[in-house]
Amino acid sequence: METRITVDGERLIADFMTLVSIASHSREEMHVASYIRGAVEELGFAVTEDDAAVAVGGTSGNLIVRVPGDETRPVVLLMAHMDTAVPGQGVQPVRKADRITSDGKTVLGADDKAGVAGLLHLMRALASGAVDPHPPLEIVFTVCEEIGLLGAKALNPSALRSRYGFVFDSGGDIGLVVTGSPAQAKLRAVLRGRSAHAGVSPEKGISAIEMAAEAIAAMPLGRVDDVTTANIGTIKGGYASNIVCDMVELIGEARSSDAARMQAQQSAMVAALENAARRRGGIAECEWLDSYPVLSVSRDAFILDVAAKALHDVGVQASFGATGGGSDANVVAGMGIPVVNMAIGYQQIHTLEEFILLADLHRAAELMIAVVRRCHEIQGD
Ligand SMILES: [Zn+2]
Repeated sequence: METRITVDGERLIADFMTLVSIASHSREEMHVASYIRGAVEELGFAVTEDDAAVAVGGTSGNLIVRVPGDETRPVVLLMAHMDTAVPGQGVQPVRKADRITSDGKTVLGADDKAGVAGLLHLMRALASGAVDPHPPLEIVFTVCEEIGLLGAKALNPSALRSRYGFVFDSGGDIGLVVTGSPAQAKLRAVLRGRSAHAGVSPEKGISAIEMAAEAIAAMPLGRVDDVTTANIGTIKGGYASNIVCDMVELIGEARSSDAARMQAQQSAMVAALENAARRRGGIAECEWLDSYPVLSVSRDAFILDVAAKALHDVGVQASFGATGGGSDANVVAGMGIPVVNMAIGYQQIHTLEEFILLADLHRAAELMIAVVRRCHEIQGD
């Protein structure tokens, strides 16, 4: 099967350089969204913007491009996010012999503009007929991925027809297919004691700081087991050395790729707080907020086969793995849509040293085309 399509490398690089130059911190994606919209409409595809801007309090919603295709095939979802990590304002991309970097003052934003550029490139190939025949596609550009997958969470699942999908937003070498990533939940706990003068009448006080110390010491934290992690990230409270502290606020999190262990971990953290409060005569107020659901693709899922074949088409051996971080793929998986997150070659993400090799930028775009071609082999039911 001939799946190689020559990617116009210079056009791709130019697109990428333009995209990274357009600042798009989370909630400030308006300008990059309008650039994408212009490019897509020029190709003749319909773009809709959903109402995620309201949900996230930002300047743009998610963009959804519907590309008609062979209706005997299931609709496929392809995704990348438009926002970047900070500092991402005034990015000056520098093209070197084999790579593109920033000027060292900002991130590059290849996370995830390399995904965006690749998808624009794919659409150019689709518009030219070079990828025919292909299944119908829903190509989604999300907002606010970097601040808790807020854009993906604001997507209306009933607006999507996709039966399975691919997110192009993992760092590292092309070939990695992320098939697992834990669910995350955030804890906010307030411990209340009673203030008193620390020198005159300490016995009248109930120290929330001592309560917190006892609770945290009793908690399973760090790498709790092979699929579970937990952390207390911030602790705030107190006024002065001579006042018994009456209130402490703790912010923490738990992650697990196993639902039962997640539940057990959350209960254990709450129990530690409540026990400490009870023993010392104080009060613990604990609140968990689910951040995002688990991504867990089974080894025999057809989608892994599609990913592996597409990678093979671009000359790379697939490797499947799990990661501790979340991505839009977690949210899509939570909608019941089978999905994987594919590495597209950007390196050193969220640092001023972030870069992407020209060869990887090129290969990522080729990979997206190969994925769509391989998806056409998947029959509807
Ligand atoms: Zn990303």
